[in-house]
Amino acid sequence: MTNKTKIVNGKLVVPDFPTIPFIEGDGIGKDISGPSQRVIDAAVSKAYGDSRKITWKEVLAGEKAFRETGTYMPDETLEAFKEYLIGIKGPLQTPVGEGIRSLNVALRQTLDLYVCVRPVRWFKGVPSPIRYPSMVDMHIFRENTEDIYAGIEYMTGEEKTKKFRDFLINEMGVDKIRFPESSSFGIKPISKDGSERLTKAAIEYAIERNLPSVTIVHKGNIMKFTEGAFKNWSYDLAENEFAEQTFTWREFEKIKKEKGQLDADKALEAAKKDGKVIVKDCITDAFLQESLLHPWDHSVIATMNLNGDYVSDQLAAMVGGIGISPGANINYLSGYAIFEATHGTAPNIAGTGKANPGSLILSGVMMLEYMGWDKAAEHVYDAMEHVFARRKVTSDLHAQMEGATLLTTSEFADAIIKNM
Ligand code: NAD
Repeated sequence: MTNKTKIVNGKLVVPDFPTIPFIEGDGIGKDISGPSQRVIDAAVSKAYGDSRKITWKEVLAGEKAFRETGTYMPDETLEAFKEYLIGIKGPLQTPVGEGIRSLNVALRQTLDLYVCVRPVRWFKGVPSPIRYPSMVDMHIFRENTEDIYAGIEYMTGEEKTKKFRDFLINEMGVDKIRFPESSSFGIKPISKDGSERLTKAAIEYAIERNLPSVTIVHKGNIMKFTEGAFKNWSYDLAENEFAEQTFTWREFEKIKKEKGQLDADKALEAAKKDGKVIVKDCITDAFLQESLLHPWDHSVIATMNLNGDYVSDQLAAMVGGIGISPGANINYLSGYAIFEATHGTAPNIAGTGKANPGSLILSGVMMLEYMGWDKAAEHVYDAMEHVFARRKVTSDLHAQMEGATLLTTSEFADAIIKNM
């Protein structure tokens, strides 16, 4: 019997006893990895008894890898993620002066993990800076491989930069660079292929989970051929490939123009009644306001890399911060998926028992859902809800909650297991 997850005809096939590679992580990675695995194991056992079980296989990366092998990201680690398809990781410190921009980026690029998924939901009792945190249920789909993150940048004064600037001015007729002599430059590649695969994943996710809408977040009013094109390609994709399951704001506007407001409103109402996913768009700055003021208007969010970065942090702060914000980097075509805590290595609290394992535990829950082990995922959610409702929390949340009981990293995991 195989222990390897596979993708067959575009569908994930997960064995009952899969091997899952994990990277412990640097800093608090050591503190949160073990407790998180205990919670996931307990939930699987509660849901499926002896008929399903994960075998955790440690693979090295970061400081631990460097100590043991002399390299921060051994080839065997990448091979293990390829071999077993699904993996999970703790945070990794970015090595200084190592020629690798970031280990996380290396992983994402090698496996072409083009979507960063971050669900954002509120647990009752968790302190929030907004008025109606219970109305927050958003799912960010951030493009992971393009945009200014491609790292095509030129520093002012360097030879290449002069060459690039002269090309723009002399060959392309650019005359709007305010200070050409002292300018640095950054290039923002946004492709049709990259935009389409991201939006496709977002729409399919919304359809599968019966979610009401997909909001395309962009700054297309300014960056017309990159962010504006992203918006248009996304609308095209929805209308061409998901005509039966979606209704777009662009279609709404077309009906309004041709037949008037009343007909457009009727079409929108009918689409909602039929359970279609409403595909809409919002300019990034407006979205940052909107999501705070009317979070209930947004469900799945499809956006590019840099916007996704900003949006993720704001939404995480709305529901309790990075200690409980999970994430996953996924390639829906090959099936490769790495689930990860979204925070860093928190060296200031490493080894003190203060770290909140919630982010990694919830990343594990996302992993269970991705595997189709929903029953186990629900056990963790429910138990975590109980623990928060009883105001039992780790130090990051304790400081903001009156009358709360302070738990260590391990005690918090135990409390979840006890409440299953
Ligand atoms: P950080 O997320 O490590 O810490 C920011 C603040 O949040 C700190 O005060 C920290 O104590 C707190 N915090 C973070 N996670 C917490 C948790 N689970 N429970 C309680 N408090 C928590 O960010 P940083 O200090 O900017 O980065 C430290 C290192 O982590 C850097 O080397 C950075 O490159 C790396 N990093 C890695 C990842 C990743 O692996 N995905 C992500 C971000 C940063």
